[in-house]
Amino acid sequence: MKKLLRLLSRLLFLIFVIIIGFVILNFLRFSSRQVSVAPVAPLKISTEIIERFSAAIRIPTISYKDRIDTTAFEAFIEFVDSNYTQVNSNLEHYKVNDYSLVYRWPGKNPKLKPILLMAHTDVVPVGSQNESNWEEAPFSGVVKDGFIWGRGTLDDKHNVIGILEAVQMLLQEGYRPDRTLYLAFGHDEEVGGDFGAQAIARRFSEQGLAFEYILDEGMLVMENALPGLDQPVTLLGIAEKGYTTLHISIALEDGGHSSMPPQETAIGILSKALYTLESNPFPARIDGIAGQLFDHVGPEMNLLYKTIFANRWLFGGILKKQLANAPSTNAIIRTTTAPTMLNAGIKDNILPTQAAAQINFRILPGETVESVIAQVTATIDDERIVVREQDPTFSTNPSQVSDTESFGFRVLQKSACEIFPGTVAAPALMIAATDSRHYQQLSDDIFRFSPVQLQKPDLARIHGFNERISIENYEKLIGFYRQLVRNSCN
Ligand SMILES: [Zn+2]
Repeated sequence: MKKLLRLLSRLLFLIFVIIIGFVILNFLRFSSRQVSVAPVAPLKISTEIIERFSAAIRIPTISYKDRIDTTAFEAFIEFVDSNYTQVNSNLEHYKVNDYSLVYRWPGKNPKLKPILLMAHTDVVPVGSQNESNWEEAPFSGVVKDGFIWGRGTLDDKHNVIGILEAVQMLLQEGYRPDRTLYLAFGHDEEVGGDFGAQAIARRFSEQGLAFEYILDEGMLVMENALPGLDQPVTLLGIAEKGYTTLHISIALEDGGHSSMPPQETAIGILSKALYTLESNPFPARIDGIAGQLFDHVGPEMNLLYKTIFANRWLFGGILKKQLANAPSTNAIIRTTTAPTMLNAGIKDNILPTQAAAQINFRILPGETVESVIAQVTATIDDERIVVREQDPTFSTNPSQVSDTESFGFRVLQKSACEIFPGTVAAPALMIAATDSRHYQQLSDDIFRFSPVQLQKPDLARIHGFNERISIENYEKLIGFYRQLVRNSCN
């Protein structure tokens, strides 16, 4: 017996040593994926450039679901035409559906596939009742304390105007691209992009265009993004989640009487289904894009986190739990389940025969709208409950995943490191939808990145109150686009 115990403890010790060995080996092999590039001298922009941006902010190009504010969009086009005259005279340009803008800067080498930079000119409304929450009026474009204030400074006029400034600067410097550059600025991204991005993409398809890569608005340079990492992270969106809202309902033949209720009621049955869905979330996955993110940030982390991220085979369970704890990280490891609407009953003493809920799902690449419906139906496991798409025209599958070995990713990474030195660049998953989803047929490699460095609390300004951009960020943004064109099109 003693012998057996000794043997067993030796065996356990051996297993322990092997595990430790593997942990150390993986740690040592977990090498940096960062590129070393010399930083580019920071751009200093004139007050004229800042004033131009603030004038663009003052034009309230708000998107509404049911109408278009033609005065505002005409004013914006007039503003672009009169301020970017060199762009207009050197680049081919045309409008799509009156208000979306397309530019083409022909390259000297027609054998090179063109690239496309995208952005959108429309903004979300402020709501008159919310104006008092703003420190500066939302369409004032005020320049104060090193910031330019107003709706559109972070979403998405900074990208539109910043790209135009960069191209105008390159023209003034006498730069001529080898590779053809396209610019496309949709005017209705905030309400779906049907008349802007979708129409432009259709036009490009008809022309038989295929892009080396496409860059749209998206993820950011984030400070304090992850525990165990001191440097800011340049998050380069290589895919975006899908979207669907499911309508989940029950209709009973007889609701019963509220003075003598049956054991199960419509509201009770539906509530149980919702509870079951919330308590059985979609599986968490730390492979896929989350895995690629960890492969890029992990080697730059402190000892503890580097060990954990290098050994996801061992610490995967703990890691998933940790990531699931915060909504922002939970969203990158799974398809999320968000009950958003409930409807049942008409009077306090009448049992309803019908009850319905709407649940919004953001779908992880690898899953589809169909697989979400199948999983929801199986999880609820109640034949009385009907599960259907609320509105199939609003459903989208997750995007394709762009390649981190591609030319596009490499030039983005290089340009970002040149402009944001000391940050860690990593591929990431975009949680929200962008116009770029309309362009999927036009390139294998679509990226979603806005070259702006923010802290987490600043994210609430996007679509929220007190939207603003620092002048330093705006300088970097223009510098980034100038550098990106140089790196991509020379
Ligand atoms: Zn946007």
